[in-house]
Amino acid sequence: MKILKNVSIFTGGENPKFFNNGILVWDEEKIVYAGEDSKEYKGEFIDGKGKLLMPGLIVAHDHLYSALARGIPLKNYHPENFLDILKNLWWKLDLALDRESIYYSALVGIIDAIRKGTTTIIDHHASFGYISGSLDELERVSIETGIRLSTCFEVSDRWGETKAKESIKENIRFIEKLRKEKNSLISPTFGMHAQFTISEKTMKECAEAGKDLDVGFHIHVAEDIADREDSIEKYRLGVVERLLKENILGKKTLAIHAIHIDEKEKDIIKETETMVIHNPESNMNNAVGVSDVIGMMNRGILLGLGTDGFTQNMWRETQVATILHKLNKKDPNVGFSESYRMLFVNNPKIAERIFNRKIGVIEEGAVPDFIMLSYIPPTPLNENNFFGHFLFGLSPDFVEDVVINGKFVMKDREILTVDAERIERESEKVTKNLWERFTST
Ligand SMILES: [Zn+2]
Repeated sequence: MKILKNVSIFTGGENPKFFNNGILVWDEEKIVYAGEDSKEYKGEFIDGKGKLLMPGLIVAHDHLYSALARGIPLKNYHPENFLDILKNLWWKLDLALDRESIYYSALVGIIDAIRKGTTTIIDHHASFGYISGSLDELERVSIETGIRLSTCFEVSDRWGETKAKESIKENIRFIEKLRKEKNSLISPTFGMHAQFTISEKTMKECAEAGKDLDVGFHIHVAEDIADREDSIEKYRLGVVERLLKENILGKKTLAIHAIHIDEKEKDIIKETETMVIHNPESNMNNAVGVSDVIGMMNRGILLGLGTDGFTQNMWRETQVATILHKLNKKDPNVGFSESYRMLFVNNPKIAERIFNRKIGVIEEGAVPDFIMLSYIPPTPLNENNFFGHFLFGLSPDFVEDVVINGKFVMKDREILTVDAERIERESEKVTKNLWERFTST
């Protein structure tokens, strides 16, 4: 047993608690006790040095393959719409990725995420120049860094039927492989890009494979108006309606964005218990629109928060989510409690559906995934006002220690599992080659 003392603890979750003189006890992969330091425990003692302990953050939708795009040269890049952004940046980049750059991209993204207090990532992978075996590279990085990771390959017909078939096979192969390995840190979903790049035939093949494997899907839904227009033109259905018809929705399915959907489609999401992930920074950057987060949450839809690979910074994403909806609704009352719910209540519930474990709350029976911050609160701090500190005072700058599945992955700001400095130096060389392939296509 590990016994961490001399910490204050914010538990997160639906009814958060705050312990001023807290103690956290865990045994292997489970928290045994979290509360005020009043009982005696036997085991290995760790001194929390007066730090603030809170749940590790969860990124509910990410693209680790985009991590090496930082500073990428974009010549004659003047996108007029979302499709231009995809065609001239992301689809070109994912086609240029090879085995080495997939590995380094995941490493760089995950190191960045860990430094920012993230302990779980739900990733959506694409690399149409290197499909078979690509997900093994992500698994390798998860094992090496110690992060909790879900990943999948985005099935798409955008490069033709052969590559679509190979991407379906990659999902199936990886799901079956993970089930044999039984590594509790890694869990799959079945990836699909978006309905507008998936033919009827491919859609049916995905639905069948997903049903056989009893796995949820991870798909972009109506991110841009073009996705909705495509679905209505080809199938006379909204995006959510088409996915319902094709048996893609359900309790384990992640519908990403859900911006251009109508009221009837929101009801379908609720009825099918499909999960929705909001990515405000990416949506703003792509100028695609604002999703009706408030309306969907009022319906009781399980709605979480991701970064869409835009950054690995869930602190900033949460801050933006808070203020975006105030501005969008012109109502200063909205945004605050919804953002807390997305990050500290719903993201944990979403992770629980994917990993079949209690994740993202500091309580008995949950996995010991937590972070510790060096923070002397200059104003009173308690369970009722923690989120005010989170939004207006705290940031990744305060994150000193990261513990995932009971093991220290970062201690006193040093990553223990991998040599981050060496990786970042090597990554620069790998990225130069990747960018050369990118610019030559
Ligand atoms: Zn995405």
